[in-house]
This record gives sequence, C-alpha cells and structure tokens, in this order.
Amino acid sequence: MENYSPAPDLLKDRIILVTGAGDGIGRTAALSYAQHGATVILLGRTVTKLEKVYDEIRESGAPEAIIHPMDLQNASAEDYKILGDNILEQCGRLDGLLHNAAVLGPRTPLQFYPVDSWMQLMQVNVNAPFMMTRALLPALQAAPEASVIFTSSSVGRKGRAYWGGYSVSKFAVEGLMQVLADELRQTSAIRVNSIDPGATRTAMRKAAYPAEDPSTLKGPEDLMPLYLYVMGSDSKSVTGQALNA
Ligand code: NDP
Repeated sequence: MENYSPAPDLLKDRIILVTGAGDGIGRTAALSYAQHGATVILLGRTVTKLEKVYDEIRESGAPEAIIHPMDLQNASAEDYKILGDNILEQCGRLDGLLHNAAVLGPRTPLQFYPVDSWMQLMQVNVNAPFMMTRALLPALQAAPEASVIFTSSSVGRKGRAYWGGYSVSKFAVEGLMQVLADELRQTSAIRVNSIDPGATRTAMRKAAYPAEDPSTLKGPEDLMPLYLYVMGSDSKSVTGQALNA
C-alpha cells in the first residue's frame, strides 16, 4: 500500500467525518483528507486542538472544515441523532466516516481490572461508534457511495495479556465492522472496513510504551496511503475487510 499514489483530487467534494480529529492519527487523517479535496467534519473533545487543525486546513488552501465538539464519553443517543440531522441538513449527505477516537485504559490483569474503567472505555471505544454509526446511516445512505472505517489494533485480532478492556473493545470493533459490512453489502453503496494502524508515533503509543524511542516508529503520515485508499473510490469494491497499515 505504500506504493499507492492517490489522485490529488481523490476526495474532491466529499464530506468526511473524523472522530478524534484533534490529535495523533485522526489529526493527520483529517489534514490529509482535506488536502485531497474533502470537507472534513472534525469531531473531538478538546476544542482548542480541533481549532488548530481547522486553522491548518484553512491555511493549506483546502476546503474549510467544520468543527463538531463532542465528548464520546458522555454523548447520548440524542446527541448522535442531532449530529446526523445536522449533517443531513447542512451537507445533504456523508461520504465517509473514520471512527478513530479511542482510549487505552489500564493495562492490568483482568482480575484486577477496575470495573469503572472497563465501562468507561467501552463507552468510548465501542458504544460510541455503534451509536454514531446508527445515527449517521441515513446521511451515509444519501451519498452516491460511502466508506466507513473502524480503527482496530493487533490486540483486537489476537488477545494479549494485560491489555484488558482495550483489547476486548477492539475485538468488538471488528465485530461491528463485520456485522455492518454484511448488512450493507447487498443493500447499499456503503463499504465498511477496519484498519489496524500498527505501532505509530502518537500520545497513545507513548502512554502504552513509555520507555520506547519514538524515533524508531513510523509516524501517522506514513499510514496515509492506506487511509486515503480505503476512504476514496479506488477501494469501492472492498468491504468487510480487516486491513493492516
Ligand atoms: P491518540 O491518543 O494520540 O489520539 C486519540 C484521539 O481520540 C485524540 O484526539 C483524543 O482526543 C480522541 N478522544 C479520546 N477520547 C475521546 C472522547 N471521549 N471523545 C472524543 N474524542 C476522544 O491516539 P492514536 O492517534 O494513537 O490512536 C488513534 C486510533 O488508532 C485509536 O483507535 C487507537 O486505538 C488506534 N491504534 C493506535 C496505535 C498506535 O500505535 N498509535 C496502534 C493500534 C491502534 P484528545 O486529543 O482530546 O485527547
């Protein structure tokens, strides 16, 4: 995939929502999608970070972004409905949805995993993408073709000791992807896939591996060929796939 060279206007006139767009991989994906022509809806919980990404997009001459602050920890089904209604009203459709935001939670044996932390993590990593997808399907169905991307992890494909709720949540994300892809395959022009970004230089990786030298890791920009491929029309026939960056 590193050899994929996206057309400069790959995402021209597309409306794409990115969760966790203020930092890490989500920030880079938002910038990259905008630079390839998309109007990006920047969703996240820290408004100052979203504003910085918004400014960077504007300064690059890309289509103006839209900021939608939302804390996935506390958002209700009603909040997602309002988001879906707003997108339909303002944009008429949604061409792409990148579920990127997630939290790491504690790494500890299941026996000692704090129950509250488990519930909080599942809210952000699993319940939020479920509720959001459910509410945004009418907007996705209004697009000529649309791409939904879930963000997984190696521990979402094979369980690993002490990765607790995070690992289990990523298995759930793979399940969401498979069920949704299967439901939509015959009945819509929406494709649904997951991406495991692999070890990438971000704040989350730093928290998980504090002693690691970040310069040994790939950066979020190195993932962009795959993130662009799965979001754009070149992947039109790809659905239900668990992809690796
Ligand atoms: P970061 O922690 O750097 O960024 C996560 C983003 O999600 C931040 O913008 C954060 O907002 C946002 N976010 C977290 N909680 C919430 C919330 N409650 N409401 C709204 N937004 C929230 O993580 P990465 O960029 O590293 O990770 C991106 C994705 O890739 C995740 O799904 C992660 O699990 C996955 N991944 C990452 C790997 C890596 O090596 N980096 C490896 C495998 C998978 P804020 O800036 O306000 O904190």
